[in-house]
Amino acid sequence: MAFEGLADRLQNTMAKIRGKGKVNEADVKEMMREVRLALLEADVNFKVVKDFIKRVSERAVGQEVMKSLTPGQQVIKVVKEELTELMGGEQSQIAVSNRPPTVIMMVGLQGAGKTTTTGKLANLLRKKHNRSPLLVAADIYRPAAIKQLETLGKQLSMPVFSLGDKVSPVEIAKQALEFAKKEHHDYVLIDTAGRLHIDEELMGELKDVKELSKPDEIFLVVDAMTGQDAVNVADSFNEQLGLTGVVLTKLDGDTRGGAALSIRSVTNTPIKFIGLGEKLDALEAFHPERMASRILGMGDVLTLIEKAQANVDAEKVKELEQKMRTQSFTLDDFLDQLGQVRNMGPLEDLLGMLPGANKIKGLKNMQVDEKQIGHVEAIIRSMTKVEKEQPEIINASRKKRIAKGSGTSVQEVNRLIKQFDDMKKMMKQMTNMTKGKKKGLGMK
Ligand code: GDP
Repeated sequence: MAFEGLADRLQNTMAKIRGKGKVNEADVKEMMREVRLALLEADVNFKVVKDFIKRVSERAVGQEVMKSLTPGQQVIKVVKEELTELMGGEQSQIAVSNRPPTVIMMVGLQGAGKTTTTGKLANLLRKKHNRSPLLVAADIYRPAAIKQLETLGKQLSMPVFSLGDKVSPVEIAKQALEFAKKEHHDYVLIDTAGRLHIDEELMGELKDVKELSKPDEIFLVVDAMTGQDAVNVADSFNEQLGLTGVVLTKLDGDTRGGAALSIRSVTNTPIKFIGLGEKLDALEAFHPERMASRILGMGDVLTLIEKAQANVDAEKVKELEQKMRTQSFTLDDFLDQLGQVRNMGPLEDLLGMLPGANKIKGLKNMQVDEKQIGHVEAIIRSMTKVEKEQPEIINASRKKRIAKGSGTSVQEVNRLIKQFDDMKKMMKQMTNMTKGKKKGLGMK
């Protein structure tokens, strides 16, 4: 998970101060020393760390913290607020032009994920904001870039404007804008050329495209895994082009966090989106406060709820509740439920959003084994309808057949049946408990 080292160290430091009834300057100093090391180790820019420590220290030794009844918690609150501020404070919005189309220029070095992100952003604009974007292939230098954007367009069933690689990017942008107006596209996403390094020719060309298309947003796509390099790249692009936002990709990897925590301070450009995977729906709006909360182990329940709302079928939840109450929950329902949870994203990420999840013993080191879940699904799929409804009829020969059909072992089949049995017992107990409670209330 991204930020794991940083999160671990900060949380350990916070744990030491949390319960303290009294906090003095020496305590704050000691804590700040640890926070400083944690940030530097996470590859946060040196100057950013220095300023951060100064701000937190000043506030932490201030009257309102020292005199409060819960000074330890107040200090943590200050750290969280400043961490949020470091990443940009408020969540930034995406521009909407009052003279459509809104033009977004996507820039970045090769390999950062620019073309993929262009597709992801178009997908998000359509899905979440009901917009009708046009993708524009203006990266005429990387041989596969145009083809790649066209493939993305096909996957999304979205139009891609391209004039091949013999026409200049400025001309492509010009004709694309005319086309977008004619076809009533309200967003135009221009995938510009990337290079391996920043050079004058590239910047000159990007400036020309900017001049012509008068973009409402210029988003720089940078790879979070490259740490301080990403910050330097952002700084140069911003100086030359004037960025309106940064998209930080590959936050699904085990990046240390340096880029996310430094970019805003160094370049004064907000991170607007984060990339969390290769798939086209793996792009999320960046929420500084939620990220700070996640880093400090306070969870990110808001994102979890949003994911649940977007992926879980409310009707099905109702149906499920009914089934639990009447104890008619079958293995098919279990499979269904598993599918819905998996839709929400990798389980490891979901666990990371629960407050304090990484402090629960065992859970932290538990690699969520997606393969094992795949096995569970395969086993249930290999059962007949009757078996799914009445697992008690599954005898030794049926178990052998199921194991063979699902490519697993009899032990795994046994384990699943036992787990399902335990789950049903637990549900029964729970429904009995709530029934008891209801009766009690009714008698009052
Ligand atoms: P470009 O040269 O900047 O246009 O980069 P591409 O869009 O071709 O992306 C380079 C590689 O990074 C591709 O393999 C993408 O699938 C991958 N990629 C892009 N964004 C993400 C992300 O958020 N997470 C992960 N894991 N991979 C990504």
